[in-house]
Amino acid sequence: MGSGMTMIPRPPDRSALEQEQFLKILSREEALARFEAALFPRALPREARKLAAALGAALAEDITAPIDVPPFDRSNVDGFAVRAADLASAGEGTAVGLALNGEIIHCGTAPRLQVATGTATPIATGGPLPRGADAVVMVEHTQPAGSDAIEVRRAVSPGQFVSYAGSDIARGEALLRAGTIIGSREIGMLAACGVAEVTVARKPRVAVISTGDELVQPGQPLAPAGIYDTNGAIVTAAIDENGGEAIFLGAIPDDEAKLEAAMRRALADADMLVLSGGTSKGAGDLSHRIIGRLGQPGIIAHGVALKPGKPLCLAVCDGKPVVILPGFPTSAMFTFHDMIVPVLRKLAGLPPRSDAKVSATVPVRISSELGRTEFVMVSLVDGRDGLIAYPSGKGSGAITSFAQTDGFLRIDALADQMPAGTEAEVTLFTPHVRVPDLVIVGSHCTGLDLVTAKLAHAGLTVRSIAVGSLGGLAAAKRGECDLAPIHLFDDKSETYNTPYLVEGLELVPGWRRMQGIVFRKGDGRFEGLGAKEAVAAALTDPACIMVNRNQGAGTRILIDRLLGGARPEGYWNQPRSHNAVAAAVAQQRADWGMTIAPVAHTVGLGFIPLAEEHYDFAVVRARKDRAAVQAFLDALGSDEARAALERAGFRPA
Ligand code: AMP
Ligand code: MG
Repeated sequence: MGSGMTMIPRPPDRSALEQEQFLKILSREEALARFEAALFPRALPREARKLAAALGAALAEDITAPIDVPPFDRSNVDGFAVRAADLASAGEGTAVGLALNGEIIHCGTAPRLQVATGTATPIATGGPLPRGADAVVMVEHTQPAGSDAIEVRRAVSPGQFVSYAGSDIARGEALLRAGTIIGSREIGMLAACGVAEVTVARKPRVAVISTGDELVQPGQPLAPAGIYDTNGAIVTAAIDENGGEAIFLGAIPDDEAKLEAAMRRALADADMLVLSGGTSKGAGDLSHRIIGRLGQPGIIAHGVALKPGKPLCLAVCDGKPVVILPGFPTSAMFTFHDMIVPVLRKLAGLPPRSDAKVSATVPVRISSELGRTEFVMVSLVDGRDGLIAYPSGKGSGAITSFAQTDGFLRIDALADQMPAGTEAEVTLFTPHVRVPDLVIVGSHCTGLDLVTAKLAHAGLTVRSIAVGSLGGLAAAKRGECDLAPIHLFDDKSETYNTPYLVEGLELVPGWRRMQGIVFRKGDGRFEGLGAKEAVAAALTDPACIMVNRNQGAGTRILIDRLLGGARPEGYWNQPRSHNAVAAAVAQQRADWGMTIAPVAHTVGLGFIPLAEEHYDFAVVRARKDRAAVQAFLDALGSDEARAALERAGFRPA
């Protein structure tokens, strides 16, 4: 497929269906309450598990200690089992002699002889106390007196150095309660009591199906217009993380008969079914229609006032939960964690997940859609007074916004924004905040990764938040980052970056990136021309389509200068990155555009150099002495990094 732009005609009866689809949007609380009411209370299936296989499972019943631990009165030290009364008069000046009985009690040795008045029996740590003895003296506190007697010069109290039977765990005592998650400590307690097998809640078997004609499994080559199946892998892992046993059944094309057959097979075998995709308003969205035929009561909620995640569909088919997550991976994960995990954990006999929360200041205004509870993923960095939470700039289609952030904050359904400076509660994805050692906020460049690689390998955590040059400068002025990578051209002085610095910031030169015109190799309209002639030639051909850049990008200024007021076809196509420009040209959505040389070469495009752009770092002076900043500056100047930058097509300054 050349253009990648095949339009699928929409069947005429779709619009009626769509309108009916989201007619009843429920709040997240209402949707969850209805879903839980349709599923609980219910008896959870249970199973016996060997102790070694019980880690992470939830106990299905209370466990009562079957024996005392220790099972007998036990010596805590190496020494002599004695009668405390015999040593009542012992002291520094008065040694008391005791005759040794004719046995030594090692661990695992049952005593045979009684300790009679005036005698003692050698005993090892862990040995059972013999009849007649009520205390132990440490060997260090005795003196040998011939081969079969000792002298003791200090008094002992009854019970000294003795652990009595049942003092640790008493027979009949409630050892562990139903619902307890079995960890290594619980396994230890059970083993001490001789318990080899426990009854636990059986993990719910959860079938996972991805839907969509476009999906390709990782490991397979990506077809034109294909997308790797992300949800299959991430949902499977998240189910296992939350007490389920996921069974991934692959991706099923948008074919009603095939999908229905797969859903029926899944439900015959599993306790729960989680699908993703096919629930929004696109063509070929079928799963929710099939659900109605799979069992009672069917769909509980379709359309939840959540962002991301509005198209979520919750159903119960003959007692089994069936969920359709939105197709976009980030939406799928949010709804899964927010709405599905509580139900899954209940089915697994697990207590609700307790997520760690921290409070952090939001540095920029976040706009929000009125009427939907909105979750915004954030990256945390250390600010002047406390944590700062940067909203992830990427939309719900971006999988990295999930993996590269620390947690999320919530904007109430009734708010249309969260003002800058708001102190917000951030729910963390991991149990602890890990504030990065080095924070870079600004324009991203693949060259940056070549410099920070060394820091990462040295164990420093580096966070790079891509908000563009101007956003980076603003963050640097507020002291929210260590450095801001920028490439800002000043029209008046015709120089880069320096005119944009303010008090408190210092410019450290980075590298130069050659900007130029990209075209598909072999395109006679561009081959062999200089940049100005190439653009002039493109402007005379009405069939020639360009791809522009967003307003505010340094590259855009260069393009506008070259175009000199012309507005050719494609001018309004304004992606926000160098890579998107290259992809548009490579995939024939456009015939030319402007990007940087390394990107053009990676994609295999023809390149006509125009001008060098300066990519430098605005360093926050107050933070310059920090070890991580110094490590960055060292790395930047190192021969190693410079060589790597040159190999990648950059020119170190
Ligand atoms: P849908 O809800 O099926 O219309 O999907 C919405 C968007 O999510 C589309 O761009 C799909 O290509 C994408 N999508 C759906 N399922 C998956 C998946 N399993 N992995 C990655 N992307 C997906
Ligand atoms: Mg789909």
